[in-house]
Amino acid sequence: MCQVCRRTLLAGERYRTWRWARRDQTVCVVCEPEARDAGAVRVVDAFEHVRVSGLIQHVRRVA
Ligand SMILES: [Zn+2]
Repeated sequence: MCQVCRRTLLAGERYRTWRWARRDQTVCVVCEPEARDAGAVRVVDAFEHVRVSGLIQHVRRVA
């Protein structure tokens, strides 16, 4: 689920992980500018894709 628009992400949809309020938050592509404006910091460079089985994160941390 995107933590900005509260939308459930669809299978295959791209998202990235952003950090704000000391938490890692899932943000969909559409909401990335909004997250950045809110002071969030992106913690991964690569986009993740939503697996069919759900939101499973296999991210390589860069920060
Ligand atoms: Zn969103």
